Amino acid sequence: MDNIFGPNDTVIRLSVFGGVFVLMALIEFALPKRKLIATKGRRWLTNLGISVTAAVVLRLMAALAVPVAAVAAAFYAQQHDIGLLNHVALPEWLKVVIALAVLDLAIWAQHLASHKIPILWRLHRVHHADRDIDVSTAVRFHPIEIALSMIWKIVVVLPLGASPLAVFLFEVILNGCAMFNHANIALPGWLDRVMRLFIVTPDMHRVHHSVLRREHDSNYGFNLSLWDRIFRTYTAQPEGGHLGMKIGLTPYQSEAPTRFGWSLWLPFIKEGSKAPAAATPGKTSQAPRPAKEKRV
Ligand SMILES: [Zn+2]
Repeated sequence: MDNIFGPNDTVIRLSVFGGVFVLMALIEFALPKRKLIATKGRRWLTNLGISVTAAVVLRLMAALAVPVAAVAAAFYAQQHDIGLLNHVALPEWLKVVIALAVLDLAIWAQHLASHKIPILWRLHRVHHADRDIDVSTAVRFHPIEIALSMIWKIVVVLPLGASPLAVFLFEVILNGCAMFNHANIALPGWLDRVMRLFIVTPDMHRVHHSVLRREHDSNYGFNLSLWDRIFRTYTAQPEGGHLGMKIGLTPYQSEAPTRFGWSLWLPFIKEGSKAPAAATPGKTSQAPRPAKEKRV
């Protein structure tokens, strides 16, 4: 069982996704922050195509008897009395709040690991290779990274004993917040300052998409801005300013990241190589980043 509202589960997920995506796209059209480098058509097709591929991969895994769904894990924990929150006497609403905060911290930690562990970085750089950042970047994650993320959530959900409702809410909120903080929208300065006391704003997350490693190795949060402040990985503003900063990854400042096939093959390309043909899958796992991307 992996639905908490029956068939409505998928309807709610898709409605929130579609609603927030269209809303952000409209605000981007009316109040854009930066001028985009690539044309939207091809980029959006690629970014959305990667997202659809990831969804299909997860469905296929489920169909092939490897169900990787965090909500299903929460049901399992509830039915078998597994996990901390299934053993403590607290009001249900408080358990949901605790589960949301712990899952958010877990995703923050996973994001940090994706930047520090070379083999995870290979997958995660598909997201960072986008030379523009807008609402479509929010869904540009390699299918293997999405599958690993789901497994990581399950690893956290079981000992935590998070309820199916909490996990469902977390996934919907994470999806909505990611589209908001990747959006290319110009929020008034005062609004950004107030909002980022609590949540990750587009200006805060844009720093994370800088080509400069010291900037893209900061601001790992997707929902709460709290974790980067606590763990001292917070960068307030980009060195080059929001309009002058370069987005993406230094080795891939070409039109390649707008290509669907190239993007899916990127984890298997030695870092710095321009073409998939140069890939050497057997030697891919520990390649260091080029010196010019080293922290300064
Ligand atoms: Zn990242």
